[in-house]
Amino acid sequence: MTQESPVYALTRGTQPLLLSIPHLGTELPADIAAQMNDVASVLRDTDWHLDRLYEFAASMGASVLQAKLSRYVIDLNRPPNGESLYPGKTTTGLCPTETFPGESLYAPGQEPDAAEQARRLEGYWRPYHDALTSELARIRAEHGCALLWDAHSIASVLPRLFEGKLPDLNFGTADGKSCDGDLLKQVITVAGKSPFTIVVNGRFKGGYITRHYGRPEDAIHAIQLEMCQSLYMNEAPPFEFEPDKAAAVQPVLRGMLESALAHVRKLNAR
Ligand SMILES: [Zn+2]
Repeated sequence: MTQESPVYALTRGTQPLLLSIPHLGTELPADIAAQMNDVASVLRDTDWHLDRLYEFAASMGASVLQAKLSRYVIDLNRPPNGESLYPGKTTTGLCPTETFPGESLYAPGQEPDAAEQARRLEGYWRPYHDALTSELARIRAEHGCALLWDAHSIASVLPRLFEGKLPDLNFGTADGKSCDGDLLKQVITVAGKSPFTIVVNGRFKGGYITRHYGRPEDAIHAIQLEMCQSLYMNEAPPFEFEPDKAAAVQPVLRGMLESALAHVRKLNAR
């Protein structure tokens, strides 16, 4: 069953696993697009093609929640009060006004004011989080536990945000607070057998979704995976999906999700 809204699509699964893809969206409402410039229309900071990369998750019985609107409208992985996720570091905000490399997204003087940001929060941010909250609650009620996998991808080199090239797989668990420690170990063990480079709670520690919803004491375990886009796509416009590359990373993703799911079930059976 798929539940559609202007902001998201939610497909319900049969397992205690929710895959959230908050930066997949590429739509810009016409009134907002009219205030933006040509840089915005390239949508370069999108987490491109993650629905396609994780297509196997539905066959595993996962619920899948995916955003339709661009992160340039409002960032679903930022706290509603607009606080920085990484105080002291360069990062984009709740309603970004710049791309990751620092180019302006808006025509001069057209940046969203406080009232406009509040409107986007209620109209575009809130519905995604309401859907996430209720789907997690449904899963938790049905299975007694839930695994939330927040899926992201990013350009592998962004000098304004981090030095050098990012490791391939960047796991974030709010410095260990958002999921069971052994669960994370299981996932890292699977990832460690792959050819990909790994870091845990490095530059990316999990955004608002991981930090807010991950409550291992309540049997809700959240992991964010920030992945280099070089693993499965062309990082330059028009950002094509590259099936041969993707075929190498998909079994690793599947293996991580399967072992995490098995571990969450085991924890719950205790
Ligand atoms: Zn992302």
